[in-house]
Amino acid sequence: MPIAPPEPTMLDNLHIVLVGTQHPGNIGSAARAMRTMGLTRLRLVCPAAFPHPEASALAAGADDVLDAAAVHDSLEPAIADCHLVLGCSARRRGVALPTFTPDEAAQELLAAAAQGPVALLFGAERSGLSNDELQRCHGAVQIPADPTFSSLNLAAAVQVLAWSLRRAALTEAPAPSPELRREPPATSAELEGFFAHLDRALVAIDFHKGRSPETVLHRLRRLFLRATPDQRELRILRGILADAERMARLASAAGSARPGGTELE
Ligand code: SAH
Repeated sequence: MPIAPPEPTMLDNLHIVLVGTQHPGNIGSAARAMRTMGLTRLRLVCPAAFPHPEASALAAGADDVLDAAAVHDSLEPAIADCHLVLGCSARRRGVALPTFTPDEAAQELLAAAAQGPVALLFGAERSGLSNDELQRCHGAVQIPADPTFSSLNLAAAVQVLAWSLRRAALTEAPAPSPELRREPPATSAELEGFFAHLDRALVAIDFHKGRSPETVLHRLRRLFLRATPDQRELRILRGILADAERMARLASAAGSARPGGTELE
């Protein structure tokens, strides 16, 4: 029986991102899990094998999801256009992220999807999402499974989240009016550009004074991801950084021009 095209829904801006999937069968099962719940946008980051006959077999007809899947060779481009990124993790990691249940995550994602692309990440079967990958997320999602046996099969985890999303989409009141927020929220790529600039500016003003920059950068990352700045706010912040860099250059030029070197009185 030919499969009818999916219904267009508010879930169209929601991208399921599978990172480093080892078994192609899990990609197929995840596609099936998505399609049953009206999710169609799949992005794959470094899959071990794709396309693959096992993926197609386990998709059980959800070939349209697999055919349209985008394949990326790193996480960054896979989420560059997304302004809300949540990562599913079975365990609490070293990264202190706000953590949501599947139902809470579904509400957050649906509300944000009304304004543009959003992403929900799933990690590799063996190791899950790395700390580095979670650092790029606004929040984590944990299925409150039995703590003595909390790791679901990848496609099963996709199914649980897809069901929460569908339930929320079927019952949710319409998303808040975009009037409440006129500027588009910053995307992951814009935020990463800002973090790189912040890193350079902190070095330029000698903020670290010999200490390792890593901890403070992680904390600042958390602060700005939590604040979800919009594009105009990010432009202001980058303007401040550019001025700080300019002043640091002027100060160092003045210091080296002054007779007797850079000593301050
Ligand atoms: N062995 C890995 C788990 C991998 S399971 C670990 O211990 O971290 C594959 C993926 O399914 C995970 O990366 C996560 O995205 C999702 N997943 C599995 N169980 C989950 C749970 N209880 N809550 C949230 N996501 C889960």
